[in-house]
Amino acid sequence: MNNSLRNEYLKAMGVQQWVARDAVAAVDSPDWPELETMVSGCTLCGLQESRTRTVFGAGNRDADWLVIGEAPGADEDRQGEPFVGRAGQLLTEMLFAAGLQRDEVYICNILKCRPPGNRNPSAQEVDFCHAYLQRQIELIAPRLILAVGGIAANSLLGMTEKVGQLRGKVHDYGEQKIPLVVTYHPAYLLRSPLEKRKVWKDLQLAQAVCASGQAG
Ligand code: URA
Repeated sequence: MNNSLRNEYLKAMGVQQWVARDAVAAVDSPDWPELETMVSGCTLCGLQESRTRTVFGAGNRDADWLVIGEAPGADEDRQGEPFVGRAGQLLTEMLFAAGLQRDEVYICNILKCRPPGNRNPSAQEVDFCHAYLQRQIELIAPRLILAVGGIAANSLLGMTEKVGQLRGKVHDYGEQKIPLVVTYHPAYLLRSPLEKRKVWKDLQLAQAVCASGQAG
């Protein structure tokens, strides 16, 4: 029986499935090639049935900045690269405004597969995918995490706040207490261009955090 059918049965029976949040890291601390192979063959949550390609992440694996979005959209699902659609172009421009080329940072998502119809990720999908993201964070060991959008920010921080409540301050991510700054998702900015001013402030905050980390 495939995983997604099994999950459906368990859900119908009211069985809560628990996933070890650090399952991937606990297996054998996979390095990049093993981790990529695990993600590309992943069938844990059922999204493999509708995905075209997994979207692992891209960019500089020694980056100071790790940018984390929500989940692949249709363009990303087709190309296997994060943030390549219109929102991705805007993200590239946002980074450029902060003095960064896209390939200087590492970009990935909370989910490695596209939820059908671009619906929000389910809590279970986020849980299943978390170990992959956690291992990417460990391997990159960034100076700063930039969480773009409410879903990424809330998943990383274990909160349920609006982006407006989360931005404008420096949060800590995980045991390593990696500084984390929240900003609006570029897809939201495409609909609400006036909010770009706030994003510019968020990027300045992120730059300042990175610079102070470098000095210390
Ligand atoms: N939106 C995201 O959050 N991530 C992508 O990769 C593309 C669009």
